[in-house]
Amino acid sequence: MERFMEAICEFIFPAHCPACGAYTKARGDWCEECMAATCRPHRLPLSQDMLRVLDGVWAFGAYHGGLRNLIRGLKYQRRKSTLPYILSFLDTSAKMLPEVFGPVDIAVPVPLHVRKEKQRGFNQAELIFSDWLIDKDILFWHCLSRVRQTAPQYGLDARHREENMRGAFALAADADVRGKRILLVDDIFTTGSTLGACALVLRKAGAKSVRGLVLASDR
Ligand SMILES: [Zn+2]
Repeated sequence: MERFMEAICEFIFPAHCPACGAYTKARGDWCEECMAATCRPHRLPLSQDMLRVLDGVWAFGAYHGGLRNLIRGLKYQRRKSTLPYILSFLDTSAKMLPEVFGPVDIAVPVPLHVRKEKQRGFNQAELIFSDWLIDKDILFWHCLSRVRQTAPQYGLDARHREENMRGAFALAADADVRGKRILLVDDIFTTGSTLGACALVLRKAGAKSVRGLVLASDR
């Protein structure tokens, strides 16, 4: 039913820029001005603690405006019709940030707790990045799991976020990441406590390097 309604909406409302609403040629297209204003690929500042486990984190854009609406639409309203816009955004941003795809053996999505994923119907990090990275010949591997449910991170300060995430992730029993150069992917980055907790597990298991890539950040 949900998909049927989505198809009807797409028929009634023609393709438009997700940021300003101007009509565009095809679904997934942004208008030139909004794409130029939203594409802000940048390396994020990390604390000394973070730098012990992460070799760098990059974000493709800022978490506001059209990009924030797309992410929120996908996560909280489960609108998969946002994906073509997100993918065209990834394509344009990646051209401006080629170093992210340097030495990477595998990409690993930040996992949701199994109950949360069932409730949402998908893991947004996987939906955003899996096909896109596979197209770039980067292996996508679900080797991490969230072993306990965590409180929502919003409203917590950096220290409490870190405590909230401690021990929340585990490596699959059959996963061998020794010597691997890993790209952790997620939808958004705020204080980095989630990426940091995932990176710690991978490092302890012998990963050679762990870098992070997120769609958007408010940093
Ligand atoms: Zn626009």
